[in-house]
Amino acid sequence: MFSKILIANRGEIALRIQRACREMGIKTVAVHSTADADAMHVRLADEAVCIGPPTARDSYLNVAAILSAATITGAEAIHPGYGFLSENAEFAETVEEHGIAFIGPTAQHIRTMGDKISAKTTMAALGVPLVPGSDGGLPDIATARAVAARVGYPVLIKAAAGGGGRGMKVAESEEALEEAWNVARTEARAAFGNDEVYLEKYLDKPRHIELQVLADTHGHVVHFGERDCSLQRRHQKLLEEAGSPALTAEERNVIGRTVTDALKKMGYRGVGTLEFLYQDKQFCFIEMNTRLQVEHPVTELVCDVDLVREQIRIAAGEKLGYKQSDITFRGHAIECRINAEDPKTFTPDPGLIKVFHPPGGLGVRTDSALYSGYRVPPYYDSMIAKLIVHAPDRDAAIARMQRALDECVVEGVKTVIPLHRKILADPEFRKGDYTIHWLEEFVARQA
Ligand code: ADP
Repeated sequence: MFSKILIANRGEIALRIQRACREMGIKTVAVHSTADADAMHVRLADEAVCIGPPTARDSYLNVAAILSAATITGAEAIHPGYGFLSENAEFAETVEEHGIAFIGPTAQHIRTMGDKISAKTTMAALGVPLVPGSDGGLPDIATARAVAARVGYPVLIKAAAGGGGRGMKVAESEEALEEAWNVARTEARAAFGNDEVYLEKYLDKPRHIELQVLADTHGHVVHFGERDCSLQRRHQKLLEEAGSPALTAEERNVIGRTVTDALKKMGYRGVGTLEFLYQDKQFCFIEMNTRLQVEHPVTELVCDVDLVREQIRIAAGEKLGYKQSDITFRGHAIECRINAEDPKTFTPDPGLIKVFHPPGGLGVRTDSALYSGYRVPPYYDSMIAKLIVHAPDRDAAIARMQRALDECVVEGVKTVIPLHRKILADPEFRKGDYTIHWLEEFVARQA
């Protein structure tokens, strides 16, 4: 096992990883920008190295500075967290070339899944169901027209290099196809420097359901069931639950078997998430994330597993130590992302936290790097805390989350807590009756 790990991240996820390390008796090295000198992840680490100025490009994305920090502190492994360098294949490769373990999959698998076309082609060949659409990239508009006619309108033109919903355009009809084609390619070129696009049938009422998987380097792969992340605004998730209110245990087993078989054949390593759109009882793969996800705690609570600990054990070459049949699903978990934003306009509201009081009690977990007197810097993501609850069933989890939100005190900045309260009180949400479009419509109704 490693004796020292460098955590190439900040905020709540840096703390989350530190907690796992501490329980495993592993020393931690924090890296930070000058804006984060007072951050909790720096205060609680065994060692800390400043790696640059506030802008992420110069600090948390600065590969040379991070590698130097690992070398001078003698760290044997690097955990990238999520965001920043976590899905950067070149970073993973460079880390390993320096004789440091990368806590994540191989660079080759990161690269394959980072390109949505190669991700879809790979998964299709491994027996994973896809959204009907083009076989790979589209060479010209004539081909796009032919594919759209085959799958039926509306269709979606998507960027191969896509992320965060950019380079994605819906065409309702053949007349609208050319414009969607042009806009998607222009956006993709501007955002990713790559204008390759592909086409999918546009699903009108899907849920976003993702499967959590874990693979060791000895050929063992298990899944930890699903998370329902349909509640999104501008493709950003806001509230997630495990399990999905829409899925039966039988459906979970079937899709779980499909994904574990696929990853076994692929020789995958570490944690991974396969994202699907689910409509009319059909799963359609859209992409794979080759890293830990923000919403991983809901899975940890229903499966009683420490996913970060497992990531570290796998990177050190250890075996999983349990089979699929050892994994059981107990109760229901919900996560609310608390962003420092205006709850109506979603404008970020960084600044001084005058008072922070996290909720507690039975079945409540708060993952946050906030403290009273901390100044939320304007340079990074606006998520300041995750409230996660676990209860015997979904109704009890909703009641527990309402209670936790009432207890939570954040003074000094605006947060989305009032919006979460409204969602949890809504009859459709309470019935579990929602799709990926529900939250945007709900927010529009509140305005
Ligand atoms: P990105 O990586 O840019 O976030 P994704 O492929 O993960 O792109 O899609 C992001 C979101 O866009 C999905 O969660 C879903 O809400 C919507 N979406 C993607 N593909 C489709 C589709 N074929 N039909 C309807 N909605 C889609």
